[in-house]
Amino acid sequence: MALVLPSLLLASLVGNVFYRNFGILALKATVDVRVFNVANMTILSETHAFILPVLPGHESVIFPMYSFLIEHKSSQKRLMFDLGIQKDPENTPPAFASVFSSGFAQLEPYRDITVLLQNEGINLTSIDAVVWSHVHFDHVGDMSTFPNSTKLIIGLDTDLATFLESPTAPLQESDFIGHDINRVNFANMTLTVSGLKAVDYFSDRSFYLVDTPGHLLGHLTALACVTPTSFVVLGRDTFHHTRQARPWPQFQKNFPCPTHLLIDSKSTISTDFFWSPGSCIGAFDLPSRAEVLLSVSDLPDSFYADPVKVALFNADPDFFVITAHNISLRSVILYFPVYLNSWKASQLKEKAVWSFIDAVNPAFVFSLIEVAVSHWEPPGGSDSMQCGVATAFGG
Ligand SMILES: [Zn+2]
Repeated sequence: MALVLPSLLLASLVGNVFYRNFGILALKATVDVRVFNVANMTILSETHAFILPVLPGHESVIFPMYSFLIEHKSSQKRLMFDLGIQKDPENTPPAFASVFSSGFAQLEPYRDITVLLQNEGINLTSIDAVVWSHVHFDHVGDMSTFPNSTKLIIGLDTDLATFLESPTAPLQESDFIGHDINRVNFANMTLTVSGLKAVDYFSDRSFYLVDTPGHLLGHLTALACVTPTSFVVLGRDTFHHTRQARPWPQFQKNFPCPTHLLIDSKSTISTDFFWSPGSCIGAFDLPSRAEVLLSVSDLPDSFYADPVKVALFNADPDFFVITAHNISLRSVILYFPVYLNSWKASQLKEKAVWSFIDAVNPAFVFSLIEVAVSHWEPPGGSDSMQCGVATAFGG
C-alpha cells in the first residue's frame, strides 16, 4: 500500500501540473479525430459582421466548413461533430436559403458529408451520434440522410423551432424525424475546462462537450484528448479569424513567428491600419503588438462570437484549436484519412498557426488590395516615426 499510494499521487499530480490551468485532470483515455472539409463558402459582403477591421479589398472572405469524425475505440462508438452544409441548401427553410438567394454568400461545388463518408468506406450505420455545435445551416447538414439509429446531440438552450410552424426558423421537421435527440444540460454540471462548463461525454476524460454560448444559445465546443498529452479543441464559431484569438503575448512566446514571415510582415501588414509600439510608418513590428490584430465584430448585425476562454487554449503547446471556418488552415490541415492525433508530433501547429500572416494565404487581410487615401496618423504623432524603417528592420 505504501508503494501504491505515492505512484497514484504522482500520476495525479503530473496530470494536474500539465493541465491545471484548464481544470483538466490526469488523462485516462483518448479518441481518434479525423476531419473533412465539406464545402467552401464565400461571404460576398457583410464581412464586417464577422471581423473588424475590414480593409478595402477584403470585403469578401472564404469560409471552409470542417466536419469531424470522432472515434472512441474502447466503446466502438463513432460521432460526427458538425456536418457542414447539406447538398441542396436551396431546399432549406427561407432563413437559410435566403443566404444564397440574397447574394450574401456563394458556394464552390461540394459533396454532402454523407457522400464523403461513404466514399471513404464509413458506413453511416456506424455513426452512433451527430453533435451539432449549433443550428446554423453551415453546421447541421441533412440529418434525414442518416439512419434513424444515429442520435442527435444538441445544447439544451438551442432553439429547435421548425419552419413552417415558425416562419423564420432555420430548421425543419426532417432534421429530427426518427432520431433520438439528446440535449446537453450544463445546469448541474460541476466539471469545468478553461472556466467553461463541460460534460465528459464518454465518462473517461477522452472527449468533452463544452458550453460556449455567444455565437448562438446552446453553442457547443468539443475538447478531444488525442494522445495522453495533447488535445484538439473544436472551437466552432467561437471566433471567425485566427487573429481574433487571445492571448497574444503568451502565444508569441510559445509559438514564435517564423523568421521569413516576420520579415515579410514588416512590409505586408499595413501600418495605416495596424500599429504596435515598435512600428514605424510602413514598417509593422509584430513582436511588440500585444493586442489581437482583429476584433470580434460588435456591430448590431454581427455574428457575435466569444473567443476568450477557448482562445486561451491556443497559446498552450498541448492544445490545437480548430475553429469552424479557419481559412488559414485549409491548405495546412491534414484531412481524412489522416488522423489529427499526431498533430503535436508532426508539428502541425507550428506549421499552421502563422500561415494567416503569409500574404499569399487567403486568411491574409492586413493590407489594402486597392490603395485608399488615408489621413491616419500614428499614435504619438510624428515622434513615433523616429525609429525609421532601418531600425524597424533591425538595422
Ligand atoms: Zn459557422
